[in-house]
Formats: sequence, C-alpha cells, structure tokens
Amino acid sequence: MEKFKDQRKTANGEERGFIDFKGYKNLWFNTGTLCNLECINCYIESSPTNDRLSYITNEDVIPYLEELKEMESVVETIGFTGGEPFLNPHILEVLETVCKFGFKALILTNAVNVIKRISDKLIKMNIAYPDQLRIRISLDHHSKKVHEKERGPKSFDKAIESIKWFNQNGFNLSLAGRSLTDETAEDAKVNFQQMLNDFNISLTLSDENLVIFPEMATNKEVPEITTQCFDILNVNPDHQMCASERMIIKKKGQNKPTVMPCTLLAYDPQFELGQSLRESQKRVYLNHKFCAEFCILGGASCSST
Ligand code: SF4
Repeated sequence: MEKFKDQRKTANGEERGFIDFKGYKNLWFNTGTLCNLECINCYIESSPTNDRLSYITNEDVIPYLEELKEMESVVETIGFTGGEPFLNPHILEVLETVCKFGFKALILTNAVNVIKRISDKLIKMNIAYPDQLRIRISLDHHSKKVHEKERGPKSFDKAIESIKWFNQNGFNLSLAGRSLTDETAEDAKVNFQQMLNDFNISLTLSDENLVIFPEMATNKEVPEITTQCFDILNVNPDHQMCASERMIIKKKGQNKPTVMPCTLLAYDPQFELGQSLRESQKRVYLNHKFCAEFCILGGASCSST
C-alpha cells in the first residue's frame, strides 16, 4: 500500500499515530496565500499567483473571536500568517477588531514593500492599542547572500529597512529566521544579533523575540508515524501544535472558513476539522509527511516504512 494514504493505518498496516486536542493555547488565521515573494522553501507554496486560500475578512474573523470568549479560553494572542498578511486589504480592520476584543495580535510578515502604504495607520493603531500589536518579521537568514538566494534579489535590504522602521516607531517586534544545517541555533542567534548591530538597529535579541527554525528539506522520503513513535522517540504528543492550536483558512470559492489543525497544513481536506472551534477539537491522525518531517521525527525513524 502507498504511504500516507489510509488515515488510520500506515502502508505496512501499523496503527497510525494521532494527537488528541488538549485545549486552546493559540489561534491562527491564514490571511490568504497570495504573497509578494515566492520563497523556494515555503511549505504553503505562497506566491504572487497562489490564491488557493482567499483573503479573510472581518466578518470571517469575528465569530471565532466570539467563540473564544464564550469558551472562556486562555488564548491571549491571535496569530496571522499567509501568504503575506499585509497584502490582505482587510488586514487593518481585522487587527483593530482583534485588539478591540482584548486579544493581542501577532502578525507574521516578510516586511518587503508592504509596510510603507499603511505605515501611518499602523502607527496610530499601535498608539491606540499599546502592546497589543506584535510584529514578527521573517528573514530566511542573517546573511544577505543566503536570504536572497531563497527570497529573491533586493529582498534583504528592504526587510532590514522595515525592521529599522518598526523598531524606531516603538512596535513590539520579533524576528524569525533559519539556521542552516552547518550552523547551530545558538550560532544563528549570535549572528542575527550581529546583523542588527551591523545595521545600527538597537534591538536586543533573546529567546522572547527571536525564533530560529532548522533548515528543512521537504523533498526527502520520510517514514510514517505510528502509535509507537511517541514512546520510541520520547516525543510528547501534547507539545505538538495540533494539541493546542488551530488555524482558520478560507478556501477559494467557499463562503465560510474552515478550521485546520495547525499552520503547516492548509490544503489537505482530510485535515479539515469543521467550521467552528468547538467542532474542531477532534483527534488528529498524523497522515501527512509534514507531521513526520516537521513535527515528530526530526530526521529519526521509528517505523519500518
Ligand atoms: S503537521 Fe501534523 S503533527 Fe504537526 S502540528 Fe500539524 S497535524 Fe500536528
């Protein structure tokens, strides 16, 4: 049998691993898959032409915020990822709504060419809702050469310009970057700080405002996850994103949004968990290669497939 085919069984007939929901810690919205960049390693394949996920609107977002309030959930921060969230024409209205509801809003952005036209409005919003807006700028790497190999020419300097702007204007700012396979996360942290110092940006990085992701090769063959894997690999299922988070998407051509288990899986219909947060608190069977390579295995193997 083919791998990642049957939701409950692996290709060689073992019980597929699953993760049970343990309560909300974070909620994400995918703002739409269109992006001004086309990064080679984008797991969600965002690009200037990929519109498989539509722009979410204020009307899409409000019912989920109301549901969180009704559930008296502990969620404090609502995350926004894309695509490029600042391309979404409704994003400022949506951010304001999130702030009015009393949540913090975390926006993931590549910060290339998308800030200038809304900079005045962002400053006003940051003043109106102090400490509720959180900006996380993603860089592929701290070196211009590696960054632009991945993200295209002229993308590095423009992102640096935006980092400077957000920092100078008093925004709550964090960075997300990548360490290469020959670079430890610790080395990458030192190098990201050096990059800021080189550009005279007075931001001190720490574990609170710098996230380092490992380099991922998405084309390699990966084994499937069985129910045995968690013990064998000493991986706690409760620490995976799908145990405590969800992502809302709006598929092209659909009127209502859909709840997915995490920010990694945007398209696979077998991971659709319903239209409401209450409905979505279901067991998730790890029937996708991203479950193995991004979340559980980290390069190890616990199955014969
Ligand atoms: S990729 Fe799979 S294991 Fe990872 S968070 Fe998403 S559903 Fe869970």
